[in-house]
Amino acid sequence: MFTGLAAAIFVLVSPAAADEAQHRQLGPHVHGQGTLDIAIEGKKISMELVAPGMDIVGFEHIATTDAQKEAVEKAKAKLTDVLSVFKLPAAANCKADAANVESRKETHHPGDKDDDDDDKPGAPQHSEFHATYTITCDAPESVTGMETVYFTNFAGAQLLNVNVTTSKGQTQAQMTRAKPTLDLAGVM
Ligand SMILES: [Zn+2]
Repeated sequence: MFTGLAAAIFVLVSPAAADEAQHRQLGPHVHGQGTLDIAIEGKKISMELVAPGMDIVGFEHIATTDAQKEAVEKAKAKLTDVLSVFKLPAAANCKADAANVESRKETHHPGDKDDDDDDKPGAPQHSEFHATYTITCDAPESVTGMETVYFTNFAGAQLLNVNVTTSKGQTQAQMTRAKPTLDLAGVM
């Protein structure tokens, strides 16, 4: 009985757990707040940014006008140039190897393919910008901090919840409009 119940719970819980691992957040996002995950392993830095469309372009419906489409493309271009947005110390000599930026509906699940057919212009919904980056630094020990112009670039953004993972473990921090810097000296 107990085993059966445990198995049932496992089945119920595991898709949500997988979803959480993908998104690091469940439920509606909070406008003004994004998430930046940073994983540092040797010379490699992987970063993942998830931010409400409201923070980045000021709307979350599907871009319909030329001005809206242009705003999305400009935002994507800015976010693609990751080391201009999230500046690392010059001494670390970091280069971006890969950057992928997309906007997506908040409810999008990696498994369920495009359901864009359901989208209607003007339909209320939440959408997010999702960016993943791979960076290589010649001198990772010099990655003692980060400075961002994210809040300067994106007028709706107020705060980034930052999760940093290194060989020493995980730490949480915040970068804000008032304090657009991150101290990494303690975690390297
Ligand atoms: Zn939203």
